[in-house]
Amino acid sequence: MKNKEALVIGLGISGCTAARMLADAGYSVTCFESESRIGGILFDELRPNGVRVQSFGPHIFHTNNENVYSFLKRFGSFFPYQHHVLVSIGGKRVPLPLNPRSLEILFGEKQASSLLSRIASAFPEERRVSVDQLTSSGDPKLIDLGRFMIENILSLDLNRIDGSSFLPADDSFMNDAFVETTSDDSYYTDKIQAMPMQGFTDVMERMIDHPAITVFLNLNALSRLSFHEDDYSILLDGIPFKGPVVYTPSLDKLFEYRFGALPYRAGTITFKDIPTDFQNECAVILSPKDKETIRMTESKYLTLQALDGQTSLCLEGPFMTQAKNLSTPFEPQITTQNLELYGKYLDLAKKYSSLHLLGRIACYKNLSIAECIEQASDFISSL
Ligand SMILES: Cc1cc2nc3c(=O)[nH]c(=O)nc-3n(C[C@H](O)[C@H](O)[C@H](O)COP(=O)(O)OP(=O)(O)OC[C@H]3O[C@@H](n4cnc5c(N)ncnc54)[C@H](O)[C@@H]3O)c2cc1C
Repeated sequence: MKNKEALVIGLGISGCTAARMLADAGYSVTCFESESRIGGILFDELRPNGVRVQSFGPHIFHTNNENVYSFLKRFGSFFPYQHHVLVSIGGKRVPLPLNPRSLEILFGEKQASSLLSRIASAFPEERRVSVDQLTSSGDPKLIDLGRFMIENILSLDLNRIDGSSFLPADDSFMNDAFVETTSDDSYYTDKIQAMPMQGFTDVMERMIDHPAITVFLNLNALSRLSFHEDDYSILLDGIPFKGPVVYTPSLDKLFEYRFGALPYRAGTITFKDIPTDFQNECAVILSPKDKETIRMTESKYLTLQALDGQTSLCLEGPFMTQAKNLSTPFEPQITTQNLELYGKYLDLAKKYSSLHLLGRIACYKNLSIAECIEQASDFISSL
């Protein structure tokens, strides 16, 4: 019997997961990746001093889904990791999400305790209370606290500009918009929080290391594929391709920007190697008001590497909107207008019954690593 065949376009975590799950399900899988390396936005590499850094900024694995974690652990060992973030406000560095200690440092003991009692009586059931809840609470002191957070913390999140609710711009900022009411100072609350011992790229390389998976790097998939609008067929090298085509890059690129470019945003990233054991007091320090570095990540906290006298900082500049031609677009800029534009591309994509969109870029959604894996797994189950 002839093997079932599938194509996967883009080898970030979504493409790698789909490729592996397809191979496990008996498909012969051909993968096209336009870069010279796999990994997409999760790519990591070693600095000259030996510190492993995530080239596109920090990514922490967190989920409540045991199946996702079990899948990942097939391809590498992970160590438990609790992420800690400090935010710099008016020269003071305080835990984020703001917790009782943060409120005390920022406003003094008396005011912090009054705010916490007000939060407790307004939201008795909640452990983390969002800015949206604070600003709509009807309590003037809590509304002020919400406004304070918008002004001093959330200003770095441009996705919020036209939305009434404070959506996270990306997963790594998702907990900025909350007050934690317990003394817990970890950033995420998920049951599973872990990092790969050898980095995410190593995990993804092992994922696609399968006899039924063939990988082509440095290959823009669109140079080999064509999409025919007369019968909505997909051709590979001019021959109709009958199997599933998983597409993870941006949808506007696929349809040659015919409705206009979908806005994504990205920031500058630079690295600094420092000859010391550790430079900062925790993994991430946010400085929302800083014109040059809004997020500073000390990568060694995320890698568990035993490297004496060496550390590296990842410095991220403010985000800027960019549209076309980002080889690794960062974040979909989710606004009502942009979602309408995306909808036009999606309607067109849906006409191709064998085309399956997966991942953060193709779906124009801020998915976490775990959500990308869940989505790929749902797709395989649907075949
Ligand atoms: C700044 C930031 C921080 C984040 N932090 C976290 C975090 O802490 N924890 C968490 O769980 N999630 C986090 N996320 C989300 C998570 O990183 C992403 O959801 C996930 O990595 C997306 O993977 P992907 O495969 O869908 O897309 P990508 O990683 O973008 O992969 C797409 C791939 O397609 C390739 N490609 C593009 N065009 C073509 C073409 N024409 N032909 C072939 N290949 C092509 C690209 O080179 C790329 O390799 C963060 C996201 C961002 C933006």
